[in-house]
Amino acid sequence: MRLVLLGPPGAGKGTQAERLSQRHRIARLSTGDMLRAAVAAATPIGVKAKDIMERGELVPDPVVIAIIAERIQQPDAARGFVLDGFPRTVAQAEALERLLAQRGLKLDAVIELKVDERILLRRIETRVGETKARGEAVRADDDPEVLKQRLSAYRVQTAPLVDHYRAKSVLRSVDGMASIDEVSEVIGRLVARPAEIAGSRKAPKGRTKARGARRKVPKARRASHGKRKAASRGAKAKRVRRTAVRRRKSARVRR
Ligand code: AMP
Repeated sequence: MRLVLLGPPGAGKGTQAERLSQRHRIARLSTGDMLRAAVAAATPIGVKAKDIMERGELVPDPVVIAIIAERIQQPDAARGFVLDGFPRTVAQAEALERLLAQRGLKLDAVIELKVDERILLRRIETRVGETKARGEAVRADDDPEVLKQRLSAYRVQTAPLVDHYRAKSVLRSVDGMASIDEVSEVIGRLVARPAEIAGSRKAPKGRTKARGARRKVPKARRASHGKRKAASRGAKAKRVRRTAVRRRKSARVRR
């Protein structure tokens, strides 16, 4: 299963990605976490990304695309993955499609967490409080001013992905303002019904078929059904002719 979680910072992508990863035993791939690890290890990528991330801007596409290209080939991603924070631009989405297509794969679903931006600031404050309470270091970009920049980057560069994925019929939108468990439950239902995700029409929940509706027979089967009927009509006509011939013969013998 290959999923993308889409949503502004603080929408709960990380939490939901972690749950999906555990439930479906797929890899959680967070470009934010990978970049933070690169910054902490002062790798060449980390050195390049540090200031950009601290300003709340996006790291250049080629850098993150290269990270993901390498990461999705790792053995732990073979069963599938949930992408958290990638893609963030249309160019990244197109690169991902190419990378998957090269291996005969495609995304199963893109889950958009819809949230009220005004509440996000409060969520980030809560996250900062919880991180401090655990005695962990607070993210440099979990700051009200940087958050404004991250939200602006989301609106301008990432939000167009909603239309991009809607056009491909893989987008499913979820109310990200509900409780964490409720959001997980809705996502769980969506992920369990890939046919619905792919945009195929289904009867509304609780009703499998409209009352009195006829069972829909696929076109191919309808055609062969027609042929079978015609063949059986032909066989019946043959039987009737043969019986008539037999009767005429036995009548002649009796005479
Ligand atoms: P996140 O933890 O997903 O909120 O990401 C933290 C920061 O890492 C972002 O504000 C960006 O600076 C950078 N980043 C993460 N993922 C990407 C991406 N796909 N494209 C560009 N920059 C990214």
